[in-house]
Amino acid sequence: DDTTVLSPVAARREERSGPVSGATMIAEGISAWFGDHKVLEQVDITMKAGEVTALIGPSGCGKSTFLRILNRMHELVPGASLAGSVRVGGIDIYDAGERITETRRKIGMVFQKPNPFPTMSIADNVTAGLKLIGRRVTRDERDVLVEECLTKAGLWREVKDRLDSSGGALSGGQQQRLCIARSLAVRPEVLLMDEPCSALDPTSTRRIEETIDALSSEVTIVIVTHNMQQAARVSDRCAFFLAAEGRPGHIVEQGPTEQMFGNPSDPRTNDYVNGRF
Ligand code: ADP
Ligand code: MG
Repeated sequence: DDTTVLSPVAARREERSGPVSGATMIAEGISAWFGDHKVLEQVDITMKAGEVTALIGPSGCGKSTFLRILNRMHELVPGASLAGSVRVGGIDIYDAGERITETRRKIGMVFQKPNPFPTMSIADNVTAGLKLIGRRVTRDERDVLVEECLTKAGLWREVKDRLDSSGGALSGGQQQRLCIARSLAVRPEVLLMDEPCSALDPTSTRRIEETIDALSSEVTIVIVTHNMQQAARVSDRCAFFLAAEGRPGHIVEQGPTEQMFGNPSDPRTNDYVNGRF
């Protein structure tokens, strides 16, 4: 029943009386196009520090596009355009000026298909992002960082004796946790995850969910998921996206996860979270 399904989030909220880090991300009036094709319309959402926000909705409703707008990847698609603003920690990421590198560093991303650098060692995978942000570390600092990030990603114990073996030799679930460790190394304030468990078995999925839970007090997490059980287990808030009846993707309803699953105000939300479309 719902109470059981929702208990991890409730338990986490209880525990979370201490300070949280991470930055609140605010998207306002987001519309997006591929050429003339409008795929998102007027999306407004605040993704709060210390919380996990789940973006849910059927295939093709614009969730991945929205996530790519949150880290400025959408503009890399030829012919793509957008309107609206995205702020993280008060800075407009599309108008960050000289602070653009620092702002980019604040936003990490994990994709559906784990994408470690396959021929690079596990340790080098973790620190791969440091060069990009111009951060230099000593050998000792590097070792500490590798252990810290792999521990946070729940992978340390499994790989500590083979840090020099290649990232590509790990299982799919381990590769995904390595990708999480790699994004943590640059100390992001927001972590975007696009269906991070879709390619994984249930055990690996559970490990990633535990990792999300543990990370949620230090980094703002936004996760796209098709798995309603997962949304219920890991998120504090949910936003239900839909592209239907001739309208581009938009948020039908958003709110606390308990409410979205237990007492949604829109019948379409109720149908969707109960697997009826
Ligand atoms: P979701 O992640 O919710 O499944 P997407 O964001 O991938 O949805 O897609 C939203 C809409 O944008 C779909 O109609 C899809 O066909 C279209 N789309 C996505 N990526 C591209 C692209 N690179 N070029 C053109 N259309 C795209
Ligand atoms: Mg998608």
